[in-house]
Amino acid sequence: MSQEAFGVRGSGSRLSLVVPAYDEADNAQGFVSFYREIAAEFPDLEIELVVVDDGSTDGTPGIVRQERAAGDRIVLVELSRNFGSHAAITAGLLECTGDVALTLSADLQEPISAVRDFVAQWRDGADIVWGLRSVRAVKRGPQESFAQGFSKVFNATSSVPTYPKAGPSQILVTRKVIETLRGMPETNRNVLAMIAWVGYEQREIYFEQLPRPRGVSKWTTSKKAKLVIDSFVEFSSAPVRWLTLLGLAGGALGVLLLLVAAVFMFFPGLPSGTTLIVALILAVGGAQLVGIGVIGEYLWRAGDDARRRPIYVAKSVETLKD
Ligand code: UDP
Ligand code: MG
Repeated sequence: MSQEAFGVRGSGSRLSLVVPAYDEADNAQGFVSFYREIAAEFPDLEIELVVVDDGSTDGTPGIVRQERAAGDRIVLVELSRNFGSHAAITAGLLECTGDVALTLSADLQEPISAVRDFVAQWRDGADIVWGLRSVRAVKRGPQESFAQGFSKVFNATSSVPTYPKAGPSQILVTRKVIETLRGMPETNRNVLAMIAWVGYEQREIYFEQLPRPRGVSKWTTSKKAKLVIDSFVEFSSAPVRWLTLLGLAGGALGVLLLLVAAVFMFFPGLPSGTTLIVALILAVGGAQLVGIGVIGEYLWRAGDDARRRPIYVAKSVETLKD
């Protein structure tokens, strides 16, 4: 039985390090070594490494198997194809056996000092610890600005105000959070937003993100765009409301122009035809947008209930042995 069951956090507990990996063969040796470094740092904890291979085609799982040495506790989950990092993180959290789990990236972008801070907050009573980047490895560029803007707008308009507006990177969660997550079926998921939704005691730590040592980012623009849409659809009705407001504003403008055109009708010779057409287009278009907005409100909720596909398909879950 875990120590947490006795109300004591720490000695004897199992910490699972959940690492999603997609074509990370070049970094596999590195993250297995990092796992051992973490295990040496916390001798009172039992550390488990859970690698979720997210459909790699570069032989990542084979290298993890090769790297495993006596004394390691490594669980390898192989997904049937590439499902995306949020599905892979979900798989790792649901398959891990720890009293507490910490996500880390396969490309070694988190320093060991961040792991210390995560564990310290957990020992101090936190159920969820957010890892935020005080320094980002990629600092500038339109994508980074967009990512930061997204986190701010999402924090302000979603039903998960604990989702950090600084944009979370990694997360630590306790077993009770994982068990709640198990019952949450969303297929198109922002797993971090889902964890924020669970509640309990949530705290934040900051760390300087290290540059990726090898390989390129697998987090493509289209994957990022999908995550933004998933996040809003699952947790915020704001876009639908913006649409309604836009429709109302367009409609109001149309009605105003219609009145202007009606007045102009009493002054023959003045150019009223174009104004009337523009007015009608705006009025009708506005009304349609309001309609789409209202239907969207319903669809948004119905979609929540309709999604029932599995989040990921695991072709194998293996505890590596000699
Ligand atoms: N990843 C994954 N599936 C994907 C894309 C990424 O499991 O479809 C993993 C990747 O191997 C890494 C983590 O998610 O461990 C973060 O991805 P990456 O380093 O490419 O993103 P970035 O650090 O640029 O945000
Ligand atoms: Mg990375």
